[in-house]
Amino acid sequence: MTELSPLDAAGVEAAVEAALAAFAQANDLDELKEARLAHTGDKAPLTLANRGIKDLSKEDKAAAGKAMGAARAAMGRALAARTAELEAERDARVLIEEAVDVTLPATRQATGARHPLETLQERMCDVFVSMGWEVAEGPEMEAEWFNFDALNFDPDHPAREMQDTFFVDPPSSGLLLRTHTSPVQVRAALERRDLLVEEGRGIYVVCPGKTFRTDELDATHTPVFHQIEGLAIDEGLTMAHLKGTLDHFAKAMFGPEAVTRLRPSFFPFTEPSAEMDLRCFVCGGDDAACRTCRGTGWIEWGGCGMTHPNVLVAAGIDPSKYTAFAFGMGVERTLMFRHGVADMRDMVEGDVRFSQQFGMEI
Ligand SMILES: [Zn+2]
Repeated sequence: MTELSPLDAAGVEAAVEAALAAFAQANDLDELKEARLAHTGDKAPLTLANRGIKDLSKEDKAAAGKAMGAARAAMGRALAARTAELEAERDARVLIEEAVDVTLPATRQATGARHPLETLQERMCDVFVSMGWEVAEGPEMEAEWFNFDALNFDPDHPAREMQDTFFVDPPSSGLLLRTHTSPVQVRAALERRDLLVEEGRGIYVVCPGKTFRTDELDATHTPVFHQIEGLAIDEGLTMAHLKGTLDHFAKAMFGPEAVTRLRPSFFPFTEPSAEMDLRCFVCGGDDAACRTCRGTGWIEWGGCGMTHPNVLVAAGIDPSKYTAFAFGMGVERTLMFRHGVADMRDMVEGDVRFSQQFGMEI
């Protein structure tokens, strides 16, 4: 670019015209800013010419100063006018672009509901909390010792295989995904042992939580399921206390007409052991063709029994002084019975249409 002399009137006029044209052509405030920098910035010909005035003779200085002042004033006016125009345009555009049509239908966001398994599990716990029991929880990844050894499973007990355990790599870790909530019983007993022995405070805990077995997901099995387990340790507890507790629990869950029955069974951690059945809630025991109970009149709800002395010993509790009972049942199974859910897959697939039927429970 050739240097512009402050005395070159035609050159100054041309530079001003170029600036005014550039301002007029700017389509928005960003372009106007570029034009302003190009024509009035530090490197612009007119700016440089203005700086050259100081080197002129005294009489030339006055004329050049006047011409340059007029040029700068013209550009300033044009710039201010174009800025006002472009700002008005921008404001008008924003008003249109950001307009809200309040008559448009709103996008409704479905409100989440807690899963029925979760709310049922809490209801089950509430039955025991209202009797003064504590809720105890434990880790889902558990030491094999708590899951099996402390519960009186021999090292080569077939139940370890029977229960189809997820072991955690490496095998030497001694860890597994708990196959039942029973290890929490041992943990809870260990934690409360001193209060029992020193202050005579009986241990009454209910342990809800997730459990894991290597089952394929089908209508009646799921590899991740929920159990709720109860444990009572005190002086003088008998099978009658167990039966009374379970009767109360069954009535709280299924209504005052619920009837329970104990049937001899075997578990390593209880002796004697029993399965707990409920009178069939579909046929009431009166229909030999009932598909729910297969005509037996009873359906199995859970297992129970008097805690084996070896389990008490594992928790440091003297079985000659204290006795204990324990029971456990599936939360999924209870939900199936209570609400007639036929397929376990509905509970794990996370389809909100399933949960919605149970309404909002907080
Ligand atoms: Zn039946």
